[in-house]
Amino acid sequence: LKPNQMTFQATLDFARQMDAQDSLRSFRNQYLFPQHQGNKCLYFCGNSLGLQPKKAAEFIKEELQHWQELGVEGHFEGELPWTQYHKALAPASAHIVGAQEDEVIIMNTLTVNLHLMMVSFYRPNAERFKIIMEAGAFPSDQYAVETQVRWHGYDPAEAIVEVAPRSGEALLHTEDILAAIEQHGAQTALVLFAGVNYYTGQVYDMPAITAAGHRVGAYVGFDLAHAAGNVPLHLHDWGVDFAVWCTYKYINSGPGAPSGAFVHAKHGNKPQIPRFAGWWGHNEERRFLMEKGFDPIPGAAGWQLSNAPILAYAPMRASHDLFLEAGMPALRAKSEKLTAYLEFLIDSLNIDERRFDIITPRDPAQRGAQLSFLTGPAGKQLFDYLTQNGVICDWREHNLPGEKGEKAGVIRIAPTPMYNSFEDVWRFADLLAKANV
Ligand SMILES: *Cc1c(COP(=O)(O)O)cnc(C)c1O
Repeated sequence: LKPNQMTFQATLDFARQMDAQDSLRSFRNQYLFPQHQGNKCLYFCGNSLGLQPKKAAEFIKEELQHWQELGVEGHFEGELPWTQYHKALAPASAHIVGAQEDEVIIMNTLTVNLHLMMVSFYRPNAERFKIIMEAGAFPSDQYAVETQVRWHGYDPAEAIVEVAPRSGEALLHTEDILAAIEQHGAQTALVLFAGVNYYTGQVYDMPAITAAGHRVGAYVGFDLAHAAGNVPLHLHDWGVDFAVWCTYKYINSGPGAPSGAFVHAKHGNKPQIPRFAGWWGHNEERRFLMEKGFDPIPGAAGWQLSNAPILAYAPMRASHDLFLEAGMPALRAKSEKLTAYLEFLIDSLNIDERRFDIITPRDPAQRGAQLSFLTGPAGKQLFDYLTQNGVICDWREHNLPGEKGEKAGVIRIAPTPMYNSFEDVWRFADLLAKANV
């Protein structure tokens, strides 16, 4: 038993006591919830699209107003001129991923940034052309990697090394990841992993993977889509070369919100690093001189391409304020308890033939705010029942080689510490207990 589980109780009273003791409980009131029969939904999809901060609309209105009043002058005038807007997004981004402010930039969208970072950090040659990644990575990452490899004239079957779970298992062993890096080391150009696997919720050992990649002379990058705003990250100290993440999942910045990119300071100040450039990455003082010769802004900002999407940036400021106010250490501390409580309640339902097997790691250090569990034979019917009862969560057909159970699907539940309560978790488990499917 984990420390908390010894004292957990499966009662509504207990859940409410936990909420009363939660120093972050007021943050829930800063978000707008979809409704079910006049009440807040049990929203557990923050790993897919985070909820809307109440203040998001104000920040958007402010920029509509600036546009109305200032027109094109809004680029240089107003409290926060549009040419400077990205700088207001740096403090929270840097806090969330553990970086210096000049190592982060919000721009484009996630898959676009993954391509841009690979342009700079996947530069294969005849000796070193391999990319080591996780098997079953998010499809967009698989397509990005496959097409980058082809674009450089290599064969994905030879160049992409996928590290898979052992037979009959759903999770990766760190030692297997490190062994693959060791084995292919001399031919490896890039090690590219997720921070948190989107399906199982497993947190990979990012510092160990980074050190192993560097030992064999490869660059190391991470896709932090499911990690940013969820688990502790120290990209600068770990020495990670680059990272990308989206801000619409745990960072609650709205559908299709712009993405984050991290370029370590050891690379950011080298103008000679190859990249695909645009005018927004050019020396700010000289940008409007419209002259020849790209001169990158030092730091991650030198990877920007285009004139910034201000109306898409705006809601992020509402969300960022809340992250800075709550702080990642407090969010993480609550998250560990909330997920452990969900685990405790699901486990206590496992009686007789009915089993909800959790595939997410049992070790709190190896998971964030997500538990994925196999539905057993109830499959999609269980998910439909939950939906009809006001639960918003996520269903996936089972597709991991190691999964057990015919017809089993996977339900992913992400109790986020920012706006979910212990009562939410209790109510969810109560519905699960009453399921008659
Ligand atoms: C959510 C997610 C994406 C989505 O990419 P977009 O470019 O934002 O559509 C990509 N990769 C991973 C790992 C994800 O979790």
